[in-house]
Amino acid sequence: MFAKDFLALFYPSLCIICASNLLKHEECICISCLHQTPKTDCFINSKNDVSERFWGRIKLENAAALFDFNKDGNAQKLIHQLKYEEGKNVGIFLGKQLAYAINESECFNNIDIVIPVPLHPKKQKLRGYNQSDFIAKGIKEILDIKVNKKSLIRIENTDSQTRKKRFSRWENMMNSFDLRSNKKLKGKHILLVDDVITTGSTLEACAQKLQEVEGVKVSIATIAVA
Ligand SMILES: [Zn+2]
Repeated sequence: MFAKDFLALFYPSLCIICASNLLKHEECICISCLHQTPKTDCFINSKNDVSERFWGRIKLENAAALFDFNKDGNAQKLIHQLKYEEGKNVGIFLGKQLAYAINESECFNNIDIVIPVPLHPKKQKLRGYNQSDFIAKGIKEILDIKVNKKSLIRIENTDSQTRKKRFSRWENMMNSFDLRSNKKLKGKHILLVDDVITTGSTLEACAQKLQEVEGVKVSIATIAVA
Protein backbone atom coordinates (compact mmCIF):
# COMPACT_ATOMS: atom_id res chain seq x y z
CA MET A 1 0.00 0.00 0.00
CA PHE A 2 1.27 3.45 -0.88
CA ALA A 3 1.83 5.92 1.91
CA LYS A 4 -0.76 8.28 0.39
CA ASP A 5 -3.51 5.63 0.48
CA PHE A 6 -2.48 4.62 3.96
CA LEU A 7 -2.71 8.20 5.21
CA ALA A 8 -6.08 8.64 3.50
CA LEU A 9 -7.50 6.00 5.83
CA PHE A 10 -6.93 8.28 8.77
CA TYR A 11 -7.02 11.70 7.14
CA PRO A 12 -9.70 11.73 4.46
CA SER A 13 -9.39 14.50 1.86
CA LEU A 14 -11.69 17.45 2.34
CA CYS A 15 -13.69 19.45 -0.16
CA ILE A 16 -11.84 22.74 -0.66
CA ILE A 17 -15.15 24.63 -0.67
CA CYS A 18 -17.28 23.14 2.12
CA ALA A 19 -14.64 21.05 3.96
CA SER A 20 -16.79 17.92 4.01
CA ASN A 21 -15.10 14.54 3.58
CA LEU A 22 -14.63 13.63 -0.05
CA LEU A 23 -15.97 10.35 -1.33
CA LYS A 24 -13.64 7.93 -3.04
CA HIS A 25 -14.46 9.09 -6.58
CA GLU A 26 -14.34 12.81 -5.71
CA GLU A 27 -11.27 15.00 -6.20
CA CYS A 28 -10.61 18.41 -4.61
CA ILE A 29 -14.28 19.45 -4.48
CA CYS A 30 -17.44 17.49 -3.65
CA ILE A 31 -20.09 16.82 -6.30
CA SER A 32 -22.57 19.08 -4.51
CA CYS A 33 -20.21 22.09 -4.49
CA LEU A 34 -19.21 21.43 -8.10
CA HIS A 35 -22.86 21.52 -9.15
CA GLN A 36 -23.40 24.75 -7.22
CA THR A 37 -20.56 26.53 -9.03
CA PRO A 38 -22.21 28.62 -11.75
CA LYS A 39 -21.12 27.63 -15.25
CA THR A 40 -21.09 29.92 -18.27
CA ASP A 41 -22.81 29.13 -21.58
CA CYS A 42 -19.48 29.57 -23.43
CA PHE A 43 -19.19 25.97 -24.55
CA ILE A 44 -22.70 25.99 -26.00
CA ASN A 45 -22.62 29.41 -27.68
CA SER A 46 -19.60 30.48 -29.69
CA LYS A 47 -20.83 34.10 -29.39
CA ASN A 48 -20.40 34.52 -25.65
CA ASP A 49 -19.16 36.89 -22.96
CA VAL A 50 -15.56 35.72 -23.44
CA SER A 51 -15.37 35.65 -27.25
CA GLU A 52 -17.02 39.09 -27.41
CA ARG A 53 -14.15 40.58 -25.42
CA PHE A 54 -11.83 39.89 -28.34
CA TRP A 55 -14.01 41.34 -31.08
CA GLY A 56 -12.14 43.97 -33.04
CA ARG A 57 -8.91 43.04 -31.27
CA ILE A 58 -7.84 39.68 -32.62
CA LYS A 59 -9.29 36.86 -34.68
CA LEU A 60 -9.85 33.70 -32.65
CA GLU A 61 -11.46 30.41 -33.59
CA ASN A 62 -13.24 30.18 -30.23
CA ALA A 63 -12.99 31.56 -26.73
CA ALA A 64 -14.61 30.21 -23.59
CA ALA A 65 -14.46 30.11 -19.81
CA LEU A 66 -15.93 27.34 -17.69
CA PHE A 67 -17.15 29.17 -14.57
CA ASP A 68 -18.56 32.58 -13.74
CA PHE A 69 -16.33 34.31 -11.25
CA ASN A 70 -18.79 35.70 -8.71
CA LYS A 71 -17.20 37.53 -5.85
CA ASP A 72 -16.91 35.23 -2.82
CA GLY A 73 -18.35 32.42 -4.91
CA ASN A 74 -17.04 28.92 -5.48
CA ALA A 75 -15.12 29.80 -8.64
CA GLN A 76 -13.22 32.49 -6.77
CA LYS A 77 -12.30 30.00 -4.03
CA LEU A 78 -11.10 27.48 -6.61
CA ILE A 79 -8.96 30.07 -8.41
CA HIS A 80 -7.55 31.21 -5.07
CA GLN A 81 -6.56 27.62 -4.24
CA LEU A 82 -4.66 27.37 -7.53
CA LYS A 83 -2.07 29.73 -6.20
CA TYR A 84 -1.58 28.11 -2.81
CA GLU A 85 -0.80 24.74 -1.15
CA GLU A 86 -3.03 22.48 -3.20
CA GLY A 87 -2.49 24.47 -6.36
CA LYS A 88 -1.05 21.75 -8.53
CA ASN A 89 -3.77 19.18 -7.77
CA VAL A 90 -6.50 21.77 -8.10
CA GLY A 91 -5.00 22.84 -11.44
CA ILE A 92 -5.09 19.29 -12.80
CA PHE A 93 -8.63 18.80 -11.48
CA LEU A 94 -9.87 22.05 -13.08
CA GLY A 95 -8.04 21.20 -16.31
CA LYS A 96 -9.99 17.94 -16.42
CA GLN A 97 -13.29 19.80 -15.92
CA LEU A 98 -12.32 22.11 -18.78
CA ALA A 99 -11.51 19.08 -20.93
CA TYR A 100 -14.94 17.54 -20.32
CA ALA A 101 -16.58 20.82 -21.41
CA ILE A 102 -14.36 21.01 -24.53
CA ASN A 103 -15.16 17.40 -25.36
CA GLU A 104 -18.91 17.97 -25.20
CA SER A 105 -18.77 21.27 -27.06
CA GLU A 106 -19.38 21.53 -30.78
CA CYS A 107 -17.42 24.78 -30.89
CA PHE A 108 -14.02 23.33 -30.01
CA ASN A 109 -12.90 20.94 -32.70
CA ASN A 110 -9.56 19.71 -33.98
CA ILE A 111 -7.23 21.21 -31.41
CA ASP A 112 -3.64 20.10 -32.09
CA ILE A 113 -1.68 21.65 -29.25
CA VAL A 114 -2.37 23.07 -25.79
CA ILE A 115 -0.21 26.01 -24.68
CA PRO A 116 -0.44 27.29 -21.09
CA VAL A 117 0.01 31.07 -20.76
CA PRO A 118 3.55 31.51 -19.42
CA LEU A 119 3.87 33.19 -16.05
CA HIS A 120 6.24 36.08 -15.56
CA PRO A 121 9.62 34.45 -14.65
CA LYS A 122 9.78 36.35 -11.35
CA LYS A 123 6.27 35.25 -10.35
CA GLN A 124 6.99 31.65 -11.30
CA LYS A 125 10.16 31.64 -9.21
CA LEU A 126 8.21 32.97 -6.24
CA ARG A 127 5.31 30.50 -6.59
CA GLY A 128 7.48 27.60 -7.68
CA TYR A 129 5.14 26.63 -10.51
CA ASN A 130 2.83 27.99 -13.16
CA GLN A 131 -0.80 27.11 -12.35
CA SER A 132 -1.67 27.13 -16.07
CA ASP A 133 0.82 24.29 -16.67
CA PHE A 134 -1.29 22.10 -14.38
CA ILE A 135 -4.53 23.12 -16.06
CA ALA A 136 -2.92 22.04 -19.36
CA LYS A 137 -1.83 18.79 -17.73
CA GLY A 138 -5.41 18.05 -16.69
CA ILE A 139 -6.62 18.70 -20.25
CA LYS A 140 -3.96 16.34 -21.61
CA GLU A 141 -5.01 13.59 -19.21
CA ILE A 142 -8.55 13.59 -20.62
CA LEU A 143 -8.17 14.63 -24.26
CA ASP A 144 -4.67 13.31 -24.96
CA ILE A 145 -3.61 16.52 -26.72
CA LYS A 146 0.06 17.52 -26.71
CA VAL A 147 1.12 20.30 -24.34
CA ASN A 148 3.78 22.70 -25.55
CA LYS A 149 5.46 24.76 -22.82
CA LYS A 150 8.56 25.74 -24.80
CA SER A 151 7.49 27.61 -27.91
CA LEU A 152 5.79 30.60 -26.28
CA ILE A 153 7.96 32.36 -23.73
CA ARG A 154 7.47 35.35 -21.47
CA ILE A 155 10.18 37.94 -21.66
CA GLU A 156 11.59 39.38 -18.50
CA ASN A 157 11.45 43.12 -18.70
CA THR A 158 14.76 44.35 -17.36
CA ASP A 159 14.45 48.05 -18.01
CA SER A 160 10.88 48.29 -16.78
CA GLN A 161 11.26 51.87 -15.54
CA THR A 162 12.20 53.31 -18.92
CA ARG A 163 9.61 51.12 -20.64
CA LYS A 164 6.87 52.36 -18.36
CA LYS A 165 7.59 55.89 -19.42
CA ARG A 166 7.65 55.19 -23.12
CA PHE A 167 4.87 52.66 -23.51
CA SER A 168 1.37 52.17 -22.20
CA ARG A 169 0.50 49.12 -20.11
CA TRP A 170 -1.15 47.60 -23.14
CA GLU A 171 1.93 48.10 -25.31
CA ASN A 172 4.10 46.58 -22.58
CA MET A 173 1.87 43.53 -22.48
CA MET A 174 1.97 43.17 -26.26
CA ASN A 175 5.75 43.04 -26.06
CA SER A 176 5.90 40.55 -23.19
CA PHE A 177 5.97 37.33 -25.21
CA ASP A 178 8.25 35.74 -27.74
CA LEU A 179 8.49 32.57 -29.80
CA ARG A 180 11.07 29.83 -29.75
CA SER A 181 11.33 26.80 -32.05
CA ASN A 182 8.08 27.73 -33.76
CA LYS A 183 8.39 25.11 -36.55
CA LYS A 184 6.29 22.76 -34.44
CA LEU A 185 3.43 25.25 -34.45
CA LYS A 186 3.14 25.78 -38.21
CA GLY A 187 -0.42 25.23 -39.46
CA LYS A 188 -1.67 24.06 -36.06
CA HIS A 189 -4.82 24.89 -34.12
CA ILE A 190 -3.58 25.96 -30.70
CA LEU A 191 -5.61 26.08 -27.50
CA LEU A 192 -4.27 28.75 -25.15
CA VAL A 193 -5.18 28.09 -21.52
CA ASP A 194 -5.12 30.30 -18.43
CA ASP A 195 -6.84 30.38 -15.03
CA VAL A 196 -8.90 33.60 -15.26
CA ILE A 197 -9.74 36.03 -18.01
CA THR A 198 -10.26 39.65 -17.00
CA THR A 199 -9.40 42.26 -19.64
CA GLY A 200 -8.02 39.60 -21.96
CA SER A 201 -4.89 41.58 -22.78
CA THR A 202 -2.50 38.79 -21.69
CA LEU A 203 -4.31 36.24 -23.83
CA GLU A 204 -4.53 38.74 -26.70
CA ALA A 205 -0.77 39.28 -26.55
CA CYS A 206 -0.11 35.52 -26.56
CA ALA A 207 -2.51 34.89 -29.44
CA GLN A 208 -1.02 37.74 -31.44
CA LYS A 209 2.46 36.29 -31.02
CA LEU A 210 1.36 32.78 -31.95
CA GLN A 211 -0.38 34.05 -35.08
CA GLU A 212 2.95 35.27 -36.39
CA VAL A 213 3.55 31.61 -37.25
CA GLU A 214 2.22 30.64 -40.67
CA GLY A 215 -1.19 28.99 -40.66
CA VAL A 216 -1.69 29.07 -36.90
CA LYS A 217 -5.25 29.21 -35.56
CA VAL A 218 -5.86 30.09 -31.91
CA SER A 219 -8.66 29.24 -29.48
CA ILE A 220 -8.82 30.25 -25.83
CA ALA A 221 -10.12 28.41 -22.78
CA THR A 222 -9.93 29.54 -19.16
CA ILE A 223 -11.31 28.20 -15.89
CA ALA A 224 -13.19 31.37 -14.98
CA VAL A 225 -14.27 34.71 -16.39
CA ALA A 226 -14.25 37.79 -14.17
ZN1 LIG B 1 -18.12 20.62 -0.97
